[in-house]
Amino acid sequence: MFEINGQRLLESLRELAAFGKVGTGVNRTAFTPEDIRARHWLRAEMEKLGLDARIDRFGNVYGQARHAEKAVLIGSHTDTVPNGGWLDGALGVMYGLEIARTLHDLQLPVAVDVISFQDEEGTFVPCLGSKAFCGVLDEAEVERAVAADGRRLVDEMAKADLPDVTLRLDPNRHIGFVEAHIEQGPRLEKGDIRVGVVEGIVGIRRYRVSARGQADHAGTTPMSMRKDAGAALVHLASDLLKRFPTWAGQNTVWNIGKFEFEPGAANVVPAKATFIIEFRDGTAETVAKLEENVRATIEAHANAAPVDIAYDSIGSVEPVSMDARMQALFRQAAEWRGDKPMTLPSGAGHDAMILAPVVPTAMIFVPSIDGRSHDVSEDTKPDDIVFGCQVMADGVAQICGAQGAL
Ligand SMILES: [Zn+2]
Repeated sequence: MFEINGQRLLESLRELAAFGKVGTGVNRTAFTPEDIRARHWLRAEMEKLGLDARIDRFGNVYGQARHAEKAVLIGSHTDTVPNGGWLDGALGVMYGLEIARTLHDLQLPVAVDVISFQDEEGTFVPCLGSKAFCGVLDEAEVERAVAADGRRLVDEMAKADLPDVTLRLDPNRHIGFVEAHIEQGPRLEKGDIRVGVVEGIVGIRRYRVSARGQADHAGTTPMSMRKDAGAALVHLASDLLKRFPTWAGQNTVWNIGKFEFEPGAANVVPAKATFIIEFRDGTAETVAKLEENVRATIEAHANAAPVDIAYDSIGSVEPVSMDARMQALFRQAAEWRGDKPMTLPSGAGHDAMILAPVVPTAMIFVPSIDGRSHDVSEDTKPDDIVFGCQVMADGVAQICGAQGAL
């Protein structure tokens, strides 16, 4: 049995949070000077604890243990959304550092390597770093990628002046990947649970639905003669929202996050209307069923309405399962430390979904206060931060071959 050093973990997290600090949060979007400085700092921290630490052209920072040929890789990302929280992915990276420090002294047969991926948040390319690390990054996408503020990824990479190498997962070395993250939702806190074991990362489907009718004077055109694109889509959207609960699985979520009318005036019948609907679920079967039902409903409305209704798919992510044996191990570790862990899907994307198809992967969540995330108000109780790391360390030690670690 061993204990991580909770104080040391919290201090490291606070030290990292100083890079790009804004109030209680952090502004450290990918390839900003703060992000790059934080990555060089992290590399130096890895060196200090004896890891062979490297940084690649994307800014991925990787620390490899020197004493073993096999390793469990622990990490996440240190880039943030604009004005993001101080934990988010930084938590998972610093867990890696703390667990590597702690387990290093035990000299287990399997070591711990640590990684911070670049641009998980998608300032340029979502999960840029983990995609490059797993060899699934499309270089053409790198050439094309532009941030919302107009910065080009290739220019930012040149400016950062990083070594012209790409770090890659080593299938002969890396026997598993483990990522910790804040939950970014309220379920753990509500259930008074300290550790969530992720069963899978949800699949996403996103559709843009649009209608084309005719703009007319809303005071002089009789109701029977209108081609009202707005009304047609309001009916369709409301029908979808009414039917979704009958199609949904237990953890399905859906959202209409954008709705627009053109020309958009009180006295003009809308000539054009558009909304975007997305839905998420952790199982491929449910996603497929939802997709079929959504399409059928849109097509039924398109056939009946006096306007042209069309839709196109604007986003598709497949659900990814986490490794069942590792899930069981982390549940056991949490129970052993006195928690009743919750098994839950991740409704948000993570680097783990890029790693999972190529290496056995697990994720654990710690509670988010009030479920807040992607905002400077994001936080987790210090005790919960330390507890989550201890549980992860216990589980990882087991994977690394510690006798009686659990
Ligand atoms: Zn994150």
